[in-house]
Amino acid sequence: MIIELKHVKKIYDKNGIEVVKDFNLEIQDKEFIVFVGPSGCGKSTTLRMIAGLEDITAGELYFDGKIVNNVLPGDRNVAMVFQNYALYPNMTVYKNMEFPLKIHKMPQPERDARIKQVSEMLGLTEYLDRKPKNLSGGQRQRVAVGREIVRNVDLFLMDEPLSNLDAKLRVQMRSEITKLHKELQKTFIYVTHDQIEAMTMANRIVIMKDGVIQQVGSPKEVYDLPENLFVGGFIGTPAMNFIEGSVDKNGYFSNSDIKLLVPKDKLEILKKNDAINIPIILGIRPEDITIDEVAIQNNPEHCGVITIDIAELLGSEFNLLFTINNKQMISKTKASRIIEADEKIMAFFDLSKSHFFDAKSTLRYR
Ligand code: ADP
Repeated sequence: MIIELKHVKKIYDKNGIEVVKDFNLEIQDKEFIVFVGPSGCGKSTTLRMIAGLEDITAGELYFDGKIVNNVLPGDRNVAMVFQNYALYPNMTVYKNMEFPLKIHKMPQPERDARIKQVSEMLGLTEYLDRKPKNLSGGQRQRVAVGREIVRNVDLFLMDEPLSNLDAKLRVQMRSEITKLHKELQKTFIYVTHDQIEAMTMANRIVIMKDGVIQQVGSPKEVYDLPENLFVGGFIGTPAMNFIEGSVDKNGYFSNSDIKLLVPKDKLEILKKNDAINIPIILGIRPEDITIDEVAIQNNPEHCGVITIDIAELLGSEFNLLFTINNKQMISKTKASRIIEADEKIMAFFDLSKSHFFDAKSTLRYR
């Protein structure tokens, strides 16, 4: 199913604020789309408007080209899985999954076949006679998903379905939901505040802040080419480093702590935008600041001395924390020896992978 939102807006009460502002998006058939952003940015509200659980204050919502603003939730042929799924405690897994089919008056033999198929898909076959209290958290969540997918719906809406599970189970369920999407071949809209969930599951990510879409793109696009400071800082862990400074006409980015040569193509972009000799922000990911000796030898003008505040050894890599302009920075790097705090060490800043942002508008120069 193709979902289209045109200028969709939400205000909860008459004098209240717009919690969703001019939301425009076309979701393709069979797409797995993830709404991600900090708590309170309007993800759930948008999802609930699509489900029909909240009125749309202004704008239009289309399912396969038909306007559905005033279609009741029960008539939208949509399944919804929440964080706080409630299973019927006195019913077995089988009965829990059968319940929505009974309501929709599906004949018994079909019900049986459908539950068999879905429970196999979700690995629940051996638990069909159990009550929810005799299941693990992950199994219960699977029943909640199963209860939604037994009905043959066109659109799946999921609102933080994994946030009540422990970390290990979340990772496992993540791949199960991705697999489910592949098998069912339906459109999925998934809400989460967790950017790793978004990055690992989505075909496309919609990044939101304060009710406004910041960027829409594939995981790779939003990671490689963040459109503004917010997206740059939100996607990726540890977060992107932001270094304040300015670029002179000879092409050096500098501040009181560091001086780095800007690659030609990036300098051209800055010149085109009249961004020479004005305060700008360099965004560089932790993995693009390394202490690789070969890189340092080959790129002397992209290097600077850093003083290590903290060195955390994480298996094969180090997280090196250091300070530039009184701000904490982080490098994620391999090292051929143990690095200690207070060491002064040469680091390579791979500016070919960095971005420059307008200090006022926060937009990436391009
Ligand atoms: P998210 O899902 O991104 O955490 P929500 O869509 O739940 O954000 O909420 C967006 C904003 O709308 C928040 O400021 C929240 O407090 C407000 N809000 C959510 N539900 C209601 C409601 N039923 N009545 C009034 N305000 C609400």
